[in-house]
Amino acid sequence: MLRRTIRLALAFVMTMAVALGGMLATAAPAQADECYTWGRTLSEGMSGADVTQLQIRVAGHVDYGEILTVDGSFGARTKAAVAKFQQAYGLGADGVAGPQTFSKIYALQDPDCTPIHFTYAELNKCNSDWSGGAVSAATAKSNGLRTMWKLEAMRRVMGDVPISVSSGFRSVSCNNAVGGASNSRHLYGDAADLVGSPSFCQLAQRARSHGFGGIFGPGYPAHDDHTHVDGRTSRAWSAPNCGV
Ligand code: ZN
Repeated sequence: MLRRTIRLALAFVMTMAVALGGMLATAAPAQADECYTWGRTLSEGMSGADVTQLQIRVAGHVDYGEILTVDGSFGARTKAAVAKFQQAYGLGADGVAGPQTFSKIYALQDPDCTPIHFTYAELNKCNSDWSGGAVSAATAKSNGLRTMWKLEAMRRVMGDVPISVSSGFRSVSCNNAVGGASNSRHLYGDAADLVGSPSFCQLAQRARSHGFGGIFGPGYPAHDDHTHVDGRTSRAWSAPNCGV
């Protein structure tokens, strides 16, 4: 009874909101709206900015050694990534991104578009505005976001294991202060030094199936207390103490 009343009241409010339309400066947004809302079902052959937004969120659900191209064009590899994402969350894995898939993404993302288990603050302990690196602040921050979505995929597929980032974006001065390489990917915002409950070798080995280009772990110089992953577009893997 009460529920029905609430529903009727809600329907009335929504009708009013629709009727008022553009007169309302701000309507209370659904959770999904706070970051990004998809307006159509996406499938192979389509393209657009909404495909790009989708690709960013599924780029960690790829095959071993694969790096998904985020280009706004929904091809066969994007379809495969969407299917892997769906499989990871118990949805029907048809590779078509519709309401169920978008609902899952909405549930996984914070209002600032970061995935729920990672934050911009965790990816950037260097400064507040992502400036001073090898790319513009906007690019560095965007790269950080892409890395976080790959990490969200990885922690999910590894069994919802906690993974933390001990160092992410670094400005030139932050990088110099920790003795980072002069061409470090940390200067680009897409690198993350991982610690967490899995072993460093597990992190290094599993990162190969979640869209990372550069991966360095135990046995690689100065990488015995973390595993480094980054978003370079070529592949580089070295963790000599971890076997193959
Ligand atoms: Zn690193």
